[in-house]
Formats: sequence, structure tokens, C-alpha cells
Amino acid sequence: MQKLSNRLDYFTESVIRKMTRIANDCGAVNLSQGFPDFDPPRELIGSLKEAAEKGPHQYEVTWGSKEFREKLAKKQERFMGIPINPDENIVVTCGSTEAMMVAMMSVCNPGDKVVVFSPFYENYTADAILAGAEPMYVPLVPPEFNFDKEVLRQAFEQRPKALILCNPSNPVGKVFTREELIYISELAKEYDTYVITDEVYEHIIFKPNKHTYLSSLPGMFERTICCSSLSKTYSITGWRLGYVIASKEVIDNCKKVHDFLTVGAAAPLQKAACAGLDFEQEYYDELNNTYERKKKLFLDGLDEIGLKYFDPEGAYYVLVDISEFGWDNDYEFCKWMAKEIGVAAVPGSSFFREDVNNYIRFHFAKKDETLIEAINRLKKLKNS
Ligand code: GLN
Repeated sequence: MQKLSNRLDYFTESVIRKMTRIANDCGAVNLSQGFPDFDPPRELIGSLKEAAEKGPHQYEVTWGSKEFREKLAKKQERFMGIPINPDENIVVTCGSTEAMMVAMMSVCNPGDKVVVFSPFYENYTADAILAGAEPMYVPLVPPEFNFDKEVLRQAFEQRPKALILCNPSNPVGKVFTREELIYISELAKEYDTYVITDEVYEHIIFKPNKHTYLSSLPGMFERTICCSSLSKTYSITGWRLGYVIASKEVIDNCKKVHDFLTVGAAAPLQKAACAGLDFEQEYYDELNNTYERKKKLFLDGLDEIGLKYFDPEGAYYVLVDISEFGWDNDYEFCKWMAKEIGVAAVPGSSFFREDVNNYIRFHFAKKDETLIEAINRLKKLKNS
């Protein structure tokens, strides 16, 4: 038999999703794969029931229903501060996972280089390789997770086609400052490079940090492919609703890729999610307050146990330093912790390109009682 595709030789299955299966197998509190264990807003559940009764149940316009795109354009214009044409600048996708793949395939040719900050969300390497591109890594250096400007410039000197920017970043929780983003945008313009952003945590930003959309910086709309989703903002990760926002030229390509990959995101779910896109500012303030509170609850627990971590500026993850436990394999540590301590996390090595084995990632998008239970179980770490 002929060998199957060799593209798949360069990456493994997702460790994040594997940890969820391990957590389920051993009944651990699952703080690995980032998704809430609480319900979405009532309005969305109501509109989902209504969509089940009234439809639509057939294909929508392949790049998203008109109503959804119009409401999304209005919402994003408000937050991003730039004009967005619902017909020309948006493709609605099956989650931001598809959005990122669509962006990559729309921008890159086989052999193109793509710069990725490390640590990074594990899909990016797979996306680049599946698109035939070659990922190159620029470290976000622990413990502060800043990048060295000169190292980034050297990466651009290799003429990459694109840079991937996850902001707020998963797994670090870093919110890139306006000054850092201006530096990145100047390099992108100087070296004629596209920037594919993953901004799914755009509405989870801890004070006093502020989210700056790269697309809104001078001269960046035409070279930024903004990918995001409704998953984290409305606690509907299973609805798989994401989108790409970019210039008409880029979106025309994205529409083609998306059309042949998936045809379209689920029609009744697009209809139901419109209720969320209509929410006023109050909803987003409340969401942020909820996550500020959950972050404090979880980090206070980590402090009480005496664990060291990077204090996240945004998103809902925290990287914890496990050096003191003396394991040289963080994956083995996570499997042991799920089984013996009863809490699942993701081994940091699945995010780092560098040989780093002393971090694990927890997420805190869980009910308060789930987080309290996790902290109580984690207390056993210090005496095991
Ligand atoms: N973004 C989430 C995480 O990092 C999971 C997303 C997914 O598994 N599709 O855990």
C-alpha cells in the first residue's frame, strides 16, 4: 500500500483535547480544554428554541446569513472602531478553528514561511503545515513572556508571508500592548507581511489592560486577517460559530476556501446567535467582571497552595510553574495529577516550541464551585 499523506508526520493529535478524554476517564475536574461548564445567556437558549421551531433548517448563504453578518458588522465596528461591510469584509465559519485554517489557506502558498510566537495554541502549527507553509518560531520569553524586538526583526528578515498573533494570548494570558502591536505592524508593513490574528478572547481583558485590534492600527486593515468567534464571548463553544474579518481582497479568497471546506456554519445556530450580537455594552462589562472574579478566586487558591504562575492579563488561562515538583516530563505529570489529585491541566510542552517542561496550563472558565473543588484537590499536591 502507498504511504498515507506525509503532512501528518509533522504534528500529533491535539494534546488539549486528549487531556479532556483523560479527565473524563478518571473523573478529574477538567481544567484542561478551555470551555465553560455554565450555561450561555438565557436569551440565547430562548432564541435557539425558537430557531428549532421556526428555522432556518437549510443552507444559509455560504459565507454567513445576511442577518448574522449585519449584526456582527455592527458589533465589531463598535469595538474595533473601523468600518466593516457585512457583504465584503466578513466570512462566517465553523468556529475560529476553521477561520484560522481558511485564513492560512487564503494567504499562504506551499513553502511560505509563517512566524508563530511560542508558546502558542497548538492548532497554528497544524494549520501552517496543512496549508503547506513552514512555521518559524519567535519566543515569548518566560517569566514575563515578552518578545525580543531584535529576534522578531530577524524573523521578518527571512521574508515570512504571515505572522500569527494570538491576542489575548493562549496559553499565556498576555495582552499585547499598543506599543508592541505598533512595533509588529511597522515590521509587517516594512517586510510586506500579512498578520493572521486569533482574537477569540477579545472580550476577556483584565484591568488595567486594554485590547487593541491590530486591524485598527494605521495601514493594517488590508494586511490583517482577524479571526475570532462567539464561543468564548457567549459561552457557546459547541455552537462552532466563528468568523474572519478582513479586506475585500482577502475575504474574496476566504469565501472560496470556506465554501469548499464546509459550505457554511449551522443555519439555525447563526439565527439563534443573533440574539447575542444584539447585546448592549452591559453584557460585555458583566462578562469581564465574571472572569475577573473567577480569576481572583482561582489565583487566590493557587497562592494559598503556594504555586507560582504568570498572572494573566486576559483570556481564561493560567500557566503554573511546576519546577518544584521535580518531574522532567510535564505530560506524565498531568496524567498523574488527573489520576491521583483529580484535576486535569494541559502540559506546557504542547504549547512551547522550545524544550520547556516546567509549566502546566489551567483554565478558569468554570462555575465557582468547580474552581473551589479543584483548589481543594490541588492542595494535596504539596503533600504528595
Ligand atoms: N481554545 C481552547 C483551549 O485552548 C480549546 C479549543 C478547542 O479545543 N477547540 O483549550
